[in-house]
Amino acid sequence: MSTPKILILGAGYGGLITTLQLQKRLNYNEAEITLVNKHNYHYITTWLHEPAAGTASADHARVSLEGLLNRDKVNFVKGTVQSIQSEAQTVTLENGDVLGYDYLVIGLGSEPETFGIEGLKEHAFSIRSINAVRHIREHIEYMFSKFKNEPHRTDYLTFVVGGAGFTGIEFCGELGDRLPELCEEFDVDPELVKVYCIEAAPTALPGFDPELVTYAMDVLERKGIEFKIGTPIKQCTPDGVLLATGEEIKSKTVIWAAGVRGNSLVEKAGFEVMRGRVKVDEFLRVPGHENVFVVGDCALIFNEEGRPYPPTAQIAVQEGETLGDNLAAMIRGELTQKFIPHLQGTLASLGKGEGIGQVGSKKLFGSTAAMMKKASDLRYLYKIGGVGLALKKVKL
Ligand code: FAD
Ligand code: NAD
Repeated sequence: MSTPKILILGAGYGGLITTLQLQKRLNYNEAEITLVNKHNYHYITTWLHEPAAGTASADHARVSLEGLLNRDKVNFVKGTVQSIQSEAQTVTLENGDVLGYDYLVIGLGSEPETFGIEGLKEHAFSIRSINAVRHIREHIEYMFSKFKNEPHRTDYLTFVVGGAGFTGIEFCGELGDRLPELCEEFDVDPELVKVYCIEAAPTALPGFDPELVTYAMDVLERKGIEFKIGTPIKQCTPDGVLLATGEEIKSKTVIWAAGVRGNSLVEKAGFEVMRGRVKVDEFLRVPGHENVFVVGDCALIFNEEGRPYPPTAQIAVQEGETLGDNLAAMIRGELTQKFIPHLQGTLASLGKGEGIGQVGSKKLFGSTAAMMKKASDLRYLYKIGGVGLALKKVKL
């Protein structure tokens, strides 16, 4: 019998952890493992709001895959997936290469959810990759420099964040920290700078504990962020946003942080999806496809009350661990285990030394939450790259 081929698409939280788990569990001759990723690095998506605002370098949020993979066990292909053909059991890359598989793992992450709102795809930025956040940071700096040459254009100094979910809130925390530095660097009067965080729902962080939400909003307001709550964005133009209230905000910088959907390649592959995510079974399989598995933001799983879990790195990592173990077990003819998520809580940063969190029934505020978040980051870095990586990357 030929060696089974395992093909993993995407080296994000879900895909990388599946790969590392397989690397740990299997001997080099038990399976042919191939990992395909757009870049030769893994990025810490959960940190991307920092380089986007410019409070950390983009380099800080990426980790070379070279140092994580055992090349005796894993083939790495730097390439962009173009399409998946499940009938033929092949995947086509943008360069025309076709890769075959016996087992496929899809971990291609998410795309911004624009809900069909006009102009967002064309005119808004989103915090979704190293390349995207480099662009946001440069653009913000460019706006400050441009204003100095056209001082009547205060719209250059107006920044709109669409969505007060965790991504929007975390980005506002960082931007609030960066603004004083930018004002000083570009000799700009801080009074002229406006940051609007615009949320459609009747509250920021809908569904989160109200006391923690109030705390987060107070911290961000003190940093100069202005909230518009219960105010959906209806349209984005090259000149700003139009709100459902009829108000127009003139801005050359709209950061869309109003939710995500699964990578469109999954739907294009012909799998049934809800907002781009496959309702996987308890073994993370695509229904009707025994050998195709989905992890991370492309997978949709439900809690006991039948409500979908939000897509998080926390769940993607746990899925990757279970799937890695299961694939190793399947190859050895051993029993597999159902995936059961173990939620460890939610922690969000609000800029330097500030955060909020809920772990079980315990609410965390300020520096305690920020420290817990760092500890959780440390655990992840240790998991993928050992003590060396953890010490290199964590900012104390
Ligand atoms: P990703 O980590 O996004 O990885 C997808 C990978 O696929 C990437 O390497 C990408 O380059 C690659 N890829 C995509 N398309 C292709 C293609 N066509 N060909 C080849 N490769 C491709 N969650 C938490 O639990 N805690 C947090 O604190 C937290 N903070 C966050 C902060 C921010 C600013 C953001 C944006 C998200 C945060 N999240 C957090 C959510 C979390 O980051 C995602 O749920 C998680 O990254 C999903 O993991 P994934 O493996 O599905 O995808
Ligand atoms: P989200 O779906 O959690 O929040 C998006 C927000 O945008 C919602 O509050 C929604 O009401 C609002 N919105 C939608 N349409 C709008 C409109 N037209 N105008 C104004 N507001 C609008 O999305 P996210 O914040 O991008 O997060 C994506 C996923 O990543 C979530 O599962 C989240 O839990 C996770 N995440 C977690 C953390 C953390 O744990 N620290 C940080 C970032 C992201």
